[in-house]
Amino acid sequence: HNLKKYFNMGKKLFSKEPALLKAVDDVSFTIKKGETLGLVGESGCGKSTTARTIIRLHESTEGKIILDGVDISKLKESELKSHRKKMQMIFQDPYASLNSRMTVKDIISEPLLVHQIGSKHERMDIIENLLHKVGLKKEHATRYPHEFSGGQRQRIGIARALAVNPDFVICDEPISALDVSIQAQVVNMLQDLQEEMGLTYLFIAHDLSMVKYISNRMGVMYLGKLVEIADSEEVYKHPAHPYTKALLASVPFLDPQAAKPEEDILLDGDLPSPLNPPPGCRFASRCKYAMDICKKEEPLLKEIGTNHLAACHLL
Ligand code: SF4
Ligand code: MG
Repeated sequence: HNLKKYFNMGKKLFSKEPALLKAVDDVSFTIKKGETLGLVGESGCGKSTTARTIIRLHESTEGKIILDGVDISKLKESELKSHRKKMQMIFQDPYASLNSRMTVKDIISEPLLVHQIGSKHERMDIIENLLHKVGLKKEHATRYPHEFSGGQRQRIGIARALAVNPDFVICDEPISALDVSIQAQVVNMLQDLQEEMGLTYLFIAHDLSMVKYISNRMGVMYLGKLVEIADSEEVYKHPAHPYTKALLASVPFLDPQAAKPEEDILLDGDLPSPLNPPPGCRFASRCKYAMDICKKEEPLLKEIGTNHLAACHLL
């Protein structure tokens, strides 16, 4: 609720004011138990920072993070421990996120040790069971990350995330570093695991078709702001925000279900800097519909249809 994560980047040029990188700026959304919320947007829009702040890898600047009715945003590390177990993260880069000097067994047992789960013998059972769940063999337990392919490494990362039997898993672009040929396998596996283990997902991606495939609902971020959120089908068929329309129009494949792009809604120019963003609508510099008010007044998220919110002065 109203989550903010600002990074202090020192002082503004020729000024005493701090230069603030507003990576996440007043973002609110809810994820229901058992569902998958997709989060999309160009790289640098704040998706990963939102995820890392929710799971408290970053401290939030402001706002609440409510997990099972408890605001965990201000809990001390000691009070946080029991909640940490409920939330796990699968990282984008399976090469960087696994310690190359640890065996698979040690990698997966690390969270079990941190949370003091099981005896040595029980932990080995848990590990073998997890390896089986993610499509690896128990013989793999004594091997090292470099002995595996990219897809297999991501399977190890998934096994590690699921070791403590979490409720909520953040998947931060879990397949974008993988070969296209194995992306679908990993996504299908994540879906099977969700069903089997009753998981709730926050699924981050820049590939809209992938997010639509896996998510019940979809949120669109732009420069630290959530600009639209609705059921995935709804976003796909009736996108409302000019930025969402532009994102959909840039999907390079032919999907007959996607809304037909309106003439030339294309994303021109680069994402502006989230450092000291301008007042008003952050998309104004790239929006072909921008009006006077857009540069002065920030559009707030409002309901524009059933469970469909968007932030734009046009709507
Ligand atoms: Fe474009 Fe204005 Fe809507 Fe922003 S508020 S998306 S600038 S029309
Ligand atoms: Mg990211």
